[in-house]
Amino acid sequence: MFNALVVNKDDEGKTSAAVTQLSLDQLPAGDVTVAVEYSTVNYKDGLCIGPGGGLVRTYPHVPGIDFAGTVEASDDARYKPGDKVVLTGWRVGEAHWGGYSQKARVKADWLVPLPAGLDTRQAMAVGTAGFTAMLAVMALEDHGIKSGPVLVTGAAGGVGSVATAILAHLGHKVAAVTGRPETADYLTSLGATQIVAREEINETVKRPLEGETWGGCVDAVGGPMLARVLGQMEYGASVAAVGLAGGAGLPATVIPFLLRGVNLLGIDSVMQPYENRLRAWQRIAKDLPMDKLEAMVQPATLSDLPKLGSDILKGQVKGRVVVDVNA
Ligand code: NDP
Repeated sequence: MFNALVVNKDDEGKTSAAVTQLSLDQLPAGDVTVAVEYSTVNYKDGLCIGPGGGLVRTYPHVPGIDFAGTVEASDDARYKPGDKVVLTGWRVGEAHWGGYSQKARVKADWLVPLPAGLDTRQAMAVGTAGFTAMLAVMALEDHGIKSGPVLVTGAAGGVGSVATAILAHLGHKVAAVTGRPETADYLTSLGATQIVAREEINETVKRPLEGETWGGCVDAVGGPMLARVLGQMEYGASVAAVGLAGGAGLPATVIPFLLRGVNLLGIDSVMQPYENRLRAWQRIAKDLPMDKLEAMVQPATLSDLPKLGSDILKGQVKGRVVVDVNA
């Protein structure tokens, strides 16, 4: 028997989450069984611990969209017992039971071997948010980062914190947008050279183009903030759009695309092919300073998850929450 956070839904559609004992034969089908060591708390996990928001297909459900651990049993030649592995994406924790569990069973195709230079805890300090931040930075690099500072929105959150640390480590000036002024010292310690108040960017302006200010942008917020940022990009610069913490609508015009050649790059971490995932994890091991990663981490246990899931949906989590599923 082992412990997992199980979410149930009652006849009235109300969900409840509790740490529950499960047995191996209750796990979903898959070719690799993993003894999970760490998982994390991402925005989607908040949704899946609560009412599901259309992400969870069937109950009972075990959330946790990422995990790192050790292979316990494998029917696939690529993995053998004792191998360290990491998983992000593929709708694990949404349509398939995820990492809020001491054991998980998944398809071998969804796993990546833990890259040299990272242990399982560090891999989950990065987690889906950090992996996505790396994909965003790689997309900006592919399209060319211009001379101005790179703007990171939702900077004190998971994606924003890791993006800030990576970009600063790569030598870029980073302007961090936050709605929490008290996180300024934290963001500066990650390498931000400028702190921008959320209200400053959220202000409504009628002009579709403003001064050419940002050499690139990692945007975790979307909505009116993304619309405004598009008109502030340098000529030919790119915005890697990662999230919608500030809304799914995009009240923008086509002018920044037509008159400034701005690129809007959509980042999806869920369906990344194996080669891309491997490349991103190897870049993380190389380009994310581990001391800065450590400064982002808040430890948690399975029983802390119902509260943390609700906190992240309110934008109240700073940095990365690492869940020790065996604590
Ligand atoms: P977090 O909650 O950790 O961070 C989001 C941050 O956005 C908050 O910390 C806050 O930053 C800011 N924010 C929250 N609400 C608002 C608002 N109403 N207006 C403006 N800013 C706001 O989440 P993550 O970093 O884990 O994820 C960020 C987004 O990226 C989510 O929408 C998530 O679903 C998405 N995502 C997408 C992935 C993909 O594959 N495309 C993968 C992972 C995440 P601050 O306090 O500094 O202002």
